[in-house]
Amino acid sequence: MKNLFKNLFIIIIIFILVSSLFSLFTRSDKNTQTISLTELAQEINDEKIKKIEVNNQTLNITLNDDALQSTSKEAESSLTETLKNYGVEPAKLHKVQIDITQESGLKFWLGSVILPFVLPLALMGLFLWFILRQSQKGAGQAFGFTRSLARIILPEDKKNKSTSFKDVAGLKEAKEELLEVVDFLKNPKKFIDIGAKIPKGVLLIGPPGCGKTLLARAVSGEANVPFFHISGSEFVELFVGVGSARVRDMFQTAKKSSPCIIFIDELDAIGRHRGAGLGGGHDEREQTLNQILVEMDGFEPNSGVVLLAATNRPDILDPALLRPGRFDRRVILDLPDINDREDILKIHAQNKPLTAEVNLRQIAERTPGFSGADLANLVNEAAILAARQNKKEVSLLNLISSIEKVMLGPERKSHILSQEEKKIAAHHEAGHALVAASLPHTDPIRKISIIARGQAAGYTLKLPERDKHLHSKTEFVEELAVLLGGYYSEKEVFNEITTGAGNDLEKATDLARRLVMRYGMSEKLGPRTFGETEDLIFLGKEITTEKNYSEKIAAEIDSEVSLLIGNASKTAQKILAEKRALLDKIAGRLIEKETIEKEEFEELMKS
Ligand code: ADP
Ligand code: MG
Ligand code: ZN
Repeated sequence: MKNLFKNLFIIIIIFILVSSLFSLFTRSDKNTQTISLTELAQEINDEKIKKIEVNNQTLNITLNDDALQSTSKEAESSLTETLKNYGVEPAKLHKVQIDITQESGLKFWLGSVILPFVLPLALMGLFLWFILRQSQKGAGQAFGFTRSLARIILPEDKKNKSTSFKDVAGLKEAKEELLEVVDFLKNPKKFIDIGAKIPKGVLLIGPPGCGKTLLARAVSGEANVPFFHISGSEFVELFVGVGSARVRDMFQTAKKSSPCIIFIDELDAIGRHRGAGLGGGHDEREQTLNQILVEMDGFEPNSGVVLLAATNRPDILDPALLRPGRFDRRVILDLPDINDREDILKIHAQNKPLTAEVNLRQIAERTPGFSGADLANLVNEAAILAARQNKKEVSLLNLISSIEKVMLGPERKSHILSQEEKKIAAHHEAGHALVAASLPHTDPIRKISIIARGQAAGYTLKLPERDKHLHSKTEFVEELAVLLGGYYSEKEVFNEITTGAGNDLEKATDLARRLVMRYGMSEKLGPRTFGETEDLIFLGKEITTEKNYSEKIAAEIDSEVSLLIGNASKTAQKILAEKRALLDKIAGRLIEKETIEKEEFEELMKS
């Protein structure tokens, strides 16, 4: 609107300028006397005239005394003829100098065509054009809305070359798979000659933080082709139809610049099962997904466009996405094992000076279950800690305290317990630790603490000695007893229960249900699963957990869960009652020192 006013203002100024120019050209001389043709004839006969300038119908007359006069004649007849008709003697006329001037082209056009007609028209046109352009800009914005938000990284872009396969530790199989794709894009002839079809789509699957996005960036660094990067959530827009328009747009742009790679991060944001939404089957996500499927079918196998996508929820992806011809390659990225963890730590410790005592292998040993992102975070936290202590190097202690910080959240030292609360918390944690240490298949205790951390008022930290991929029923049953250790310790010592055990009970119940319903670990119900959990939508599990068993079975599940918990309770109670003295001793040490480390705890257990 503001612009419109500005333009209007400019146009008015131009009008004023033009009209003054116009009047300049058409201005008639003030001291020119207008006479009639009869008078002119008389003057010629009187020999008063020096010169007549004929300009179309206008006659500009210069008298002998240089006075100026003007008159006009009919357009049709010539001047001589006209004058003759007015009774001018031919001999007299010959004495007059007659100049016939065609009004100079420019002046003529300017004066009689351009200024009065063309210019206003042109100005009108200009004005219209301005307005049109204005509204077009608006339309353009609405249009650009559907332009895909994909960031394009071109091969010449040196800045993005910073990530390469060297920056990704572990993930060997995934790297191999992707190298193949990179190789194809660099050298397609080799593959085509032998009749091979390169996959259209490669899906990276792995838990959060395991390096999917990082790996894709490394591919863009390695491959010498344009790399389109877009996140699934960016696709999904509130406006219906825009999501699919973006997909179309992105594929079109990509095809134009083939060979290239398209990377869709967090595919699950759009790739959920169709028909799972609540919008009556026509919701936005579905349209977008359909468009992706259409586009994937649309490009030729060897067209040089490779689609790369990442997700941590393959279970909720639409099966149509996974069928051959679409994402026909699936690459599973696992959480790093101990060697990979060491490598990841090395990569992230590269530009951080470490003290000589630090052995990253030790840190890797203490961090089973950590993802690449956790490890990167750990190293960073350690560096921050060292800097806060004004040290020049990161020490082993910095790294170790960061492990706990990453795992459990920051310590809340301000969360001060009263003497009574401290006693309860100490016995609670000692209960967990004692039960765990008394059972043969549990992970060793690393640390017990009654300093609040994150959500927990205190914690008992157990870590496996090796990476574990399979868990046995025995382990789970013992774990149940450990979870209940805190609860029964409070009951044993104070004959009272506090809210502090609530979280433990929740975990225990959940674990027991999983044993029965998912792992087939109940004697009575046998090897089958119960309930199809499809938490597809945002409303939470309840709605979609399909109950595919009878009420009778439901009752049996409940009784089996109760049985498992009951047995675990007995185990915990027995241990705590038998070792009551030891329990008090551990709790006493906790009240005194607030934290007990592995070695000290083992010492206590031996006594
Ligand atoms: P996601 O799988 O969730 O996409 P990211 O790729 O975003 O995980 O990883 C997050 C960060 O974790 C990376 O930026 C990187 O610093 C670190 N990281 C994860 N995996 C690795 C790895 N294998 N090697 C090196 N760093 C890693
Ligand atoms: Mg990611
Ligand atoms: Zn507890």
